Amino acid sequence: MSMFEDIPVDVGVIYEGERIRRKDMYVELGGPDQEAKFELVRVKGLDEVEDEKITVVGPDLKDVKEGSSIPFGIYIEVAGKNVEEELEGVIERRIHEYCNFIEGFMHLNQRYDIWLRLNKKSFQKGLNSFNYIGKVLTKLYKSELPFIEKIQITFMTDPDKVRKMWKETLSIYEARDAKARGMKDEEVDTFYGCTLCQSFAPTHCCVITPQRYANCGAISWFDGRASARVDPKGPVFTIEKGEVIDPEKGEYAGVNEVVKKKTLGAVNRVWLYTGFGYPHTSCGCFEAVAFYVPEVDGFGIVHRGFKEVTVNGLPFSTLADSTAGGRQIDGFHGISIEYMRSPKFLQVDGGWNRIVWMPASVKERIKDFIPKEVVDKIATENDAKAVDELRTFLKDHEHPVVQQWKEVPVEAEPEVEEALAAPTVPLPTTAISAGGFKIILKNAKIHAEKLIIKREKEKR
Ligand code: SF4
Repeated sequence: MSMFEDIPVDVGVIYEGERIRRKDMYVELGGPDQEAKFELVRVKGLDEVEDEKITVVGPDLKDVKEGSSIPFGIYIEVAGKNVEEELEGVIERRIHEYCNFIEGFMHLNQRYDIWLRLNKKSFQKGLNSFNYIGKVLTKLYKSELPFIEKIQITFMTDPDKVRKMWKETLSIYEARDAKARGMKDEEVDTFYGCTLCQSFAPTHCCVITPQRYANCGAISWFDGRASARVDPKGPVFTIEKGEVIDPEKGEYAGVNEVVKKKTLGAVNRVWLYTGFGYPHTSCGCFEAVAFYVPEVDGFGIVHRGFKEVTVNGLPFSTLADSTAGGRQIDGFHGISIEYMRSPKFLQVDGGWNRIVWMPASVKERIKDFIPKEVVDKIATENDAKAVDELRTFLKDHEHPVVQQWKEVPVEAEPEVEEALAAPTVPLPTTAISAGGFKIILKNAKIHAEKLIIKREKEKR
C-alpha cells in the first residue's frame, strides 16, 4: 500500500527536475512577479505543535483563477526531543526536494525567493488543495527525518498575511546568516558538502565552509554540521579538508576527493575562491551570478530579483543559463548573497577590487561588507547601463581595475598583436551547422595563442 494512496497524483523521486512552462501551469505561487513570498521552518516545543495539522490562510488552489500568479508562503513548525534550532535551515531546504517529488508540482529557489508552479494536468487529476501538498510534506518529513516527532504546516495565499510574515522572515534569515560570520575556514577541519540539487544539475556539488556559504544562500557551515549529524546518509555530508593544496585559491585535497566521488568524476578539482580555473560549480539555485565583463576586466554581479538587463545587455535569466548546470565555467559564477559578505569572496580574482557593477538593491544590502575605499567606485544600474558608460564611470572614480587597463596597450596604432598568456574564452552552449551536420559545443572553451586588438576609429 502506497504511503500516498490518498493523494490524487503520483509522488516520487522521478518527478524531481520536472519543469513546468507558463503555458502548462494552472497557478504560479511566488516567483518573479511576486515580491512577497517565503518558506520558513521554525523549531517549537512539543506542546506548541499540533501534529499533522494543515492550515490554509487565504484562497486554496481550487479558488484561484487559472493561469494566475499569487503571493505565497509556507510556514512549517516542527518539534521533537532531538530537534534543535540549528536544524531549521536544513529542514527548510528539504521543502524544495519534497515539493519536487509531487507529480506536476515544481519548486525552485529558497527562502524569500521561492517560485512554485502547479501544472494543469495535476490540477485536473484532483490536486486542487494545499491539504494534499501538506499531507505529502508531512509524510515525507516524518519518514525521512524521523527525529521530527510533530509537524504542522501553514500555507498562506492571503496577500496581506503573506506580506506581513515575509517581512518578519527576512530578519530571521539574517539572524541565521550572521551566526557563521567571523568564523574562518582555517579554524575547522571539516567542511560540508550538499548534493540536493543534483536532480537539476547532476554534476553539481556544493562545498560549504565557514567562509563560503552555499550557493542557494540557505545552508551555512553550522546548518551543514547539524544536518550531517542527524542525517549522515542524507544529501548533506561531511568533507574532511585534508591537505591544504592552496590556501589562497581554497584548494583542499579532501574537497577534491569528495567532489570527484560525488560528481562521478565529472569535477576533479575545485578552487573555492575564484571565478576562473576550477571554480566551484553552480546548480541553478544560486542567489546571484558573478559574471566577467572582459571590456573592463572586472566582475559584474546580478541577483535573481533584478528585472532589468545588466550592464552587458543581458538579463539575469540569460546569465544564469550560462552559469548553471553543474559546470565549471570561467567567468560565470553562481554565488549566494552571504558569500559576498565573506572576507574570502573571490579573493584570488581581487575580491571587491575586481567588482565593477551590481544592482543598487544588492549593494545596499551588503554595503557594510564592501571595503570603504572601493564601495563608491562600484557602479550600479543608476550609474551605468552599458559597458561604455561603465568604462567612463570606473575611470572617473579611479576604480582599482583601471590600473590593470594601463598594462594593455589598447591605444597603440593601428593594430596591436599581443601574445597574451593563453587567453581562454568560455562559451555557453553553442550550435554550429555545417555540411548537413549540427555540431553542439557544450561548455566549450576557445583557446587562442594570440589576441589581436583592432582599433575601430569610427566608433570612437
Ligand atoms: S544550492 Fe547547494 S547547498 Fe543549496 S540545496 Fe543546492 S546543492 Fe544544497
